[in-house]
Amino acid sequence: MGQITLSKVVKQFGEVTVIPPLDLEINEGEFVVFVGPSGCGKSTLLRLIAGLEDTSAGSITIDGVNATDLPPAKRGLAMVFQSYALYPHMTVRKNIAFPLKMAGMSPEEQEKRVKAAAGVLNMNKLLDRRPGQLSGGQRQRVAIGRAIVREPKAFLFDEPLSNLDAALRMGMRLEITELHQRLKTTMIYVTHDQVEAMTMADKIVVLNAGRIEQAGSPLELYKNPKNIFVASFIGSPK
Ligand code: ADP
Ligand code: MG
Repeated sequence: MGQITLSKVVKQFGEVTVIPPLDLEINEGEFVVFVGPSGCGKSTLLRLIAGLEDTSAGSITIDGVNATDLPPAKRGLAMVFQSYALYPHMTVRKNIAFPLKMAGMSPEEQEKRVKAAAGVLNMNKLLDRRPGQLSGGQRQRVAIGRAIVREPKAFLFDEPLSNLDAALRMGMRLEITELHQRLKTTMIYVTHDQVEAMTMADKIVVLNAGRIEQAGSPLELYKNPKNIFVASFIGSPK
């Protein structure tokens, strides 16, 4: 589960081509990081995979099924938004259960999944609080919990830690990595932070102006950067 193939995917906004034809293979269970400078198309690529943007050409396959024209809810993927996307008036429990409620799941099953997710995230004691009564890290965990309960084929993260301070960011990186080791679910993680890419990824995809400059393990990219752009972005020795 969670095998995603992009084949000649193109994205244009009006006359502007943001993603020229792009091929990418994401393997089952892989932790893939899209990294690159601001404006290079990381979010657009993630949103194409999520179905939040339509492709201009090409195809996206998820677990062997052509998902190119499927709406987001039918793709079986879960996007983790930044923590400020929580509902302030709802408890943690209700925030986490929200996608399940929308899907029409029974209250008993909702509660079972919320408890399981809270266990994984170590937040059992926080279920009755509201987002305003939580720290930044705890809020981010709630946002992740809202994805976990859906039992997705893959988690999609778009710079989830960018509004946390440095110390908290370090802790959350470890938590997300641990979550991946536990669930073994495919994760696609977008960041402009090279340290995040190097420390979290099984596979790094270096993007530049919508193109893949190089894709490979952190060590491969570090040792054998294909070009100056990758070398300077990854910090390989000159
Ligand atoms: P990143 O996430 O790497 O910072 P984005 O994917 O957000 O980059 O943006 C890539 C390029 O696409 C940028 O030049 C941005 O201005 C453009 N872009 C993104 N979304 C839209 C949109 N809805 N309409 C027009 N241009 C867009
Ligand atoms: Mg972005």
